[in-house]
Amino acid sequence: MNRIVLPGATLGVLGSGQLGRMFAIAARQMGYRVHTLSPGIDTPTGQIADVEIDADYDDLDAIRAFARGVDVITFEFENVATAAADAAAEFVPVRPSGHALHVTQQRGREKAFLAMKGYPVTPFEAVGSLEELTTAVERIGLPAILKTASFGYDGKGQHRLTSPAELERVWALVGHQPAVLERVVDFVLEFSVVAARGLDGAFAHYGAIENQHRHHILDLSIAPARMPEPAVTEAVAITESIMEELAYVGVLCVEFFLTGDGRVLVNEIAPRPHNSGHLTVDACVTSQFEQQVRAICGLPLGATTLLRPAAMANLLGDVWAKGQPHWDAALAVPGVKLHLYGKSDPRPGRKMGHLTALADTTAEAVAHVVAARDVLT
Ligand code: AMP
Repeated sequence: MNRIVLPGATLGVLGSGQLGRMFAIAARQMGYRVHTLSPGIDTPTGQIADVEIDADYDDLDAIRAFARGVDVITFEFENVATAAADAAAEFVPVRPSGHALHVTQQRGREKAFLAMKGYPVTPFEAVGSLEELTTAVERIGLPAILKTASFGYDGKGQHRLTSPAELERVWALVGHQPAVLERVVDFVLEFSVVAARGLDGAFAHYGAIENQHRHHILDLSIAPARMPEPAVTEAVAITESIMEELAYVGVLCVEFFLTGDGRVLVNEIAPRPHNSGHLTVDACVTSQFEQQVRAICGLPLGATTLLRPAAMANLLGDVWAKGQPHWDAALAVPGVKLHLYGKSDPRPGRKMGHLTALADTTAEAVAHVVAARDVLT
């Protein structure tokens, strides 16, 4: 099923958030039609797509009907059940594959894959009971972080453990669910490598993007990352190797920690375009979303050249706390671009949009994007 999907064809997206929206914008720009399936209507992706199907991901009949109407399927968030990917694959290529989704959608499985293949990770242990958690803490040491194994993102379902007295409480906080205990990494920097692998095995990457989090949610991304070149080279090589191992087709993001002694550790893999890659839309020759279109359609990957240093600031629902943000003031800041995702309900912590600033230096880009966000409220 290695046929090329040419412009004019129809791309299917499972999921309907901002990642699907920006994918759909890139796809429509290139002359593709886009269908999206998710529970809900007037979704960020549905507002851009040609067709929006309101169905649950476990409604396999709906998934099959959806698949019959498109030429290739991708997904925009990793919590789509692999059963849905498999049902779709009965009719059309699913890229990346259900296998890649399977490995990366459960933290324990992903960590086991990384460790088994010899990629550098912080010491961890999968735990399924309070007894196992107790043993794992003895082996790994404290401080540690307990993370739910499934359906965790943006730091949801994560709890820091600093003393053995907290074990029972933290085990209750994760809901007695299968979880992964990790040693806390004393990192100097967090960064990600967003990369693509084509149908022909070609590899393209955007270098290292520096990430700063606030309350476990991505706050700022900066390109290029301000870190030593050997660590960037190593992280890119690790990313390429992971994509090879997974026979991956599409865009993927590997999140890393950089330690004080210059080592890189893999934190996690996102099998899709990533929030840290949003700055590629304005700052690179080919955005991560166009790259996803190209990869899943079997087209040549585009140039990833960074045109200017860039910084991206997320806009959470909190920005609306005092009413309508002052968009005009933010857009008066030089080199600033606004992206809103078409969400009507600005709940605190909800990703509503982002700002990107391009400048002559990363320091200037950061200063401008932060200034633009500050004048919103
Ligand atoms: P995650 O959902 O695993 O990406 O975690 C969200 C954020 O929590 C990360 O970007 C880090 O800032 C922090 N974090 C996660 N795991 C660790 C760890 N083992 N050590 C230190 N910080 C961590």
